[in-house]
Amino acid sequence: MLKMRVVQVTQAKGQFELVEREIPEPAAGRVRIKVEACGICHSDSLTREGILPGIQYPRVPGHEVAGIVDAVGAGVVGWTEGQRVGVGWHGGYCGHCEPCRRGNFFACQWGQVTGITYDGGYADYMVAHSSALALLPDELSAVEAGPLVCAGVTTFNSLRNSGARPNDVVAILGLGGLGHLGVQFAAKMGFKTVAIARGSDKAPLARQLGAHHYIDSQAQDVAAELLKMGGARVVLATVTNAQAMSATLGGLGINGKLLVLGAPHEALEVPAFSLIAGCRSIAGWYSGTSIDSQDTLSFSTLTGVRAMTEVYPLQRAAEAYERMMSGKARFRVVLTTGQ
Ligand SMILES: [Zn+2]
Ligand SMILES: [Zn+2]
Repeated sequence: MLKMRVVQVTQAKGQFELVEREIPEPAAGRVRIKVEACGICHSDSLTREGILPGIQYPRVPGHEVAGIVDAVGAGVVGWTEGQRVGVGWHGGYCGHCEPCRRGNFFACQWGQVTGITYDGGYADYMVAHSSALALLPDELSAVEAGPLVCAGVTTFNSLRNSGARPNDVVAILGLGGLGHLGVQFAAKMGFKTVAIARGSDKAPLARQLGAHHYIDSQAQDVAAELLKMGGARVVLATVTNAQAMSATLGGLGINGKLLVLGAPHEALEVPAFSLIAGCRSIAGWYSGTSIDSQDTLSFSTLTGVRAMTEVYPLQRAAEAYERMMSGKARFRVVLTTGQ
């Protein structure tokens, strides 16, 4: 049997271990992917720390996968060996549960999550359900594609479904892994794009990413600044700070929406009358399914949206993970297998 390297976690709060395993064969409905690159996401901590109940260990994290289909299981339709594919958080759907029957594939009760319910992309090879696959455009490298199938699709898909239209004011709260992509997508979608972050030093980066305006939340009143622009149609909250989110609510315009992507521990403070009087709303947004990832990749190719990345070889996954979690990475960390 041929061997491969995987980086696994053997128990909740355990260390990463680089081990050899046999290269798996894909079961029915699944394909084997020769992994070229896998981005590291903050959500990988769910596997590492055992935050989600029911994770079976050992588990290989990683849901920002880019690679090549190199074996196809029985019954798989539409995918063939040699295709370049991406696999994100959404690990596939069953097609016959009630949410699936209503077209809400993201809410499939089968609940497959890459790197959580099955082994993910911190590996030379992984096996994925065929409904989790997104086709990679030739123009994108594996390192470019990896972060786009999680951080990318989350921001792209939330913005395109936000109700905002070209020339509307759309503010991106936070300029990290999600935010630096959100600003690029918003600008390319034709929104009047406002970046909100802490400190004046991030203004040049915000403009480089395409923001038309920058608000320094440490020095300026975020809500007042947004109102000067007529109020935001959408504030896309990529941070995990409840106070920073609540502080934008006063800057929403009529029919404005706070769209929540980050999950703070604390509750949001919401002025109810302002919601009522301006028909304003607060909503969450799930990332996206494989076809949403495919659209993200396609749009990014078309418009030049790319994540800024730091690249590490697979064997340095532990160090790369710490770098990502430190918050110092600019802005996504990607593992490569050298294949
Ligand atoms: Zn993720
Ligand atoms: Zn289902």
